[in-house]
Amino acid sequence: MAYSGRCNCGAVSATMAGEPVAVRRCWCRQCQKAAAGGPTYNAMFHTADVALSGDLHAWSYLAPSGNTLSMHNCAVCATPVYAQSSARPQFMTFRLGFLDEGHGLAPTVEIWTEEMPPWARPDPELESWPRQPPAPPQAD
Ligand SMILES: [Zn+2]
Ligand SMILES: [Zn+2]
Repeated sequence: MAYSGRCNCGAVSATMAGEPVAVRRCWCRQCQKAAAGGPTYNAMFHTADVALSGDLHAWSYLAPSGNTLSMHNCAVCATPVYAQSSARPQFMTFRLGFLDEGHGLAPTVEIWTEEMPPWARPDPELESWPRQPPAPPQAD
């Protein structure tokens, strides 16, 4: 199945030609700031499957792992579009909110639960990792 997405203003749009390798929510501190207090919800697609157009604003930071993480938002309306790790350029982690309605994807994993705020509740239905999980398989 193919997926598509657009930002709030429509300046940035994308299509994804294949299935995501993971759909997760992330409670790390950087995600809480990017998502206004909650977790980010993310679908990790193969970079080779993605066609993206429009101007993005990127912000990068050095993660405790030693990898550089970059967050890409619409340069006009600031909608979060995708994130990427320097260690895994083969994947682009799109924000679920960027995807067009009706995509049918839902998180199956939550990560960085160690940094979850005290008011938040873990979801017992989800596979859970206190910090960063191992990378998805490279094959495919
Ligand atoms: Zn926009
Ligand atoms: Zn995060």
